[in-house]
Amino acid sequence: MAYVINSECISCGACEGECPVSAISEGDDLFVIDAALCTDCGACAGVCPVEAPNPAE
Ligand code: SF4
Ligand code: SF4
Repeated sequence: MAYVINSECISCGACEGECPVSAISEGDDLFVIDAALCTDCGACAGVCPVEAPNPAE
């Protein structure tokens, strides 16, 4: 399991520095989470202004 950033992301960058395992980076259109690194901690969702990061199905 991992969190996934959906299309609501406005690329504000707030989540990147909050991730304890540095799984978040800036992609072409929005920020992306490396599923291989994500530990499902939820910190990114807690700081996102548009609730873009969510647990994957
Ligand atoms: Fe990083 Fe936690 Fe968000 Fe996964 S859920 S991307 S580990 S802040
Ligand atoms: Fe995108 Fe939310 Fe991260 Fe900002 S905090 S870059 S809107 S996912």
